Amino acid sequence: MITHGDRNVPACSLRNIGGKVFDLVIVGAGVAGASAAILASQRGLSVLLVDSQFFPRDKVCGGCLNQRAQSFLQSIGLYDKIKYAGAVVIDRLHLQINKYSSQWGVPSMLSVRRSTLDQMLVDHAEHCGTTFIDGIRAKIQSIDAGSDNQHRVVILKSTSSTDSATEPVSVLGRRVVVASGLSRSSLPISEEWPASVMENSRIGLHALVPRDKVPELFASSSPGTKPQLHMLVGSAGYLGICDTDGDCVDLAAAMDPSAVRVAKDIGATVQQVLRECGADSSFVRDLNWQSTPHLTRQSECVAKQNIFLLGDATGYVEPFTGEGMSWAFKGAEALVPLLYQAHLSSDTKTAEKEWNLWITKHRNHRQRISRWVARQSRKAERAKWVLRMCDWVPPIRNQLLHSIMT
Ligand SMILES: Cc1cc2nc3c(=O)[nH]c(=O)nc-3n(C[C@H](O)[C@H](O)[C@H](O)COP(=O)(O)OP(=O)(O)OC[C@H]3O[C@@H](n4cnc5c(N)ncnc54)[C@H](O)[C@@H]3O)c2cc1C
Repeated sequence: MITHGDRNVPACSLRNIGGKVFDLVIVGAGVAGASAAILASQRGLSVLLVDSQFFPRDKVCGGCLNQRAQSFLQSIGLYDKIKYAGAVVIDRLHLQINKYSSQWGVPSMLSVRRSTLDQMLVDHAEHCGTTFIDGIRAKIQSIDAGSDNQHRVVILKSTSSTDSATEPVSVLGRRVVVASGLSRSSLPISEEWPASVMENSRIGLHALVPRDKVPELFASSSPGTKPQLHMLVGSAGYLGICDTDGDCVDLAAAMDPSAVRVAKDIGATVQQVLRECGADSSFVRDLNWQSTPHLTRQSECVAKQNIFLLGDATGYVEPFTGEGMSWAFKGAEALVPLLYQAHLSSDTKTAEKEWNLWITKHRNHRQRISRWVARQSRKAERAKWVLRMCDWVPPIRNQLLHSIMT
């Protein structure tokens, strides 16, 4: 595995690229940014991809790739590599709402740590010609009177504590893709990019645990046991647990921030959900939890003035139904041809208009089912009835699984 020490020192890379012009500057090397970098580089565009974190890095995510996401990875030749790296095939779902539980066969998913997946995508992007620098925070400059209309200036600053003396540098992008997830810190002036955040939105939580530290129910350590995705729903939110690569078990949760505030501790809130479901909860107590800001949000505009938003930056709806990453890949597949066309014709306005239309059309469709699942998960009694109905009438269950997981 590549470690920070093996990579180019960011400060040195920063100095090398200061003042350069790129066809595309992509902010954020998560699944959206890295896949857009791959597709754009394959079309011959010069691409700079930056991320504020040092890679490989983990992030808040359940790491389950649904079938659409797997097809994308197959199309760029990474599917087998990811499986070879130890990704786990999951085709069973265990749903538990308080004491009511159900077991379903599901269209098979692939569980992989984000540190593994995102590093592979970034390596592939570099292989295709992308310039990648990690440990760099990007900020797009506002357009002022002296700006030309052909480029956006992006200021890059090292996030490493050891080279704090390094001066920020600027690069020019003919077009800029903001794939920075839930963070909007790279956008020029936030008032110009209004976004709504749902008031009672939950926050995302994540931790990885070595498989031998997890109760047997949640880890398929014994031979012959099939790995499952466990989804446990309690009054404070819900928790997904599944095996992943590196002999680890991935814990990802969406919780009410007020419950976390009251418990004064993330581990205690997650424990409460496990207890309400009658499960052993001691293993989650002292983990290294990562968290996100409020999850459900939406950007009103997704493209203007040579800037294009992609992935979660366009909006996100809790819960995690395993389609966040496939949305990012699908977006990259749709956006890159528009950017390429804009590059050939020098007509960015048309690409901006088409991107706003594409997102509006697909986002509404995609979010309908997520909003519905989020509503059910907040009312335990109602959610149990939905589960019972799915158990009694398999075609309803299959339809639901199809819309969420394929
Ligand atoms: C609890 C939880 C569980 C989930 N589980 C699943 C799942 O099982 N399956 C699934 O498909 N989806 C899941 N999702 C959703 C999925 O994680 C996201 O949809 C997906 O990561 C979005 O990808 P992205 O590339 O848009 O953003 P991200 O993956 O968040 O990447 C954004 C990147 O931008 C970088 N960045 C931010 N600001 C800057 C800046 N100013 N300069 C430089 N870099 C910057 C960040 O460091 C980060 O690496 C889950 C989400 C949550 C919250």
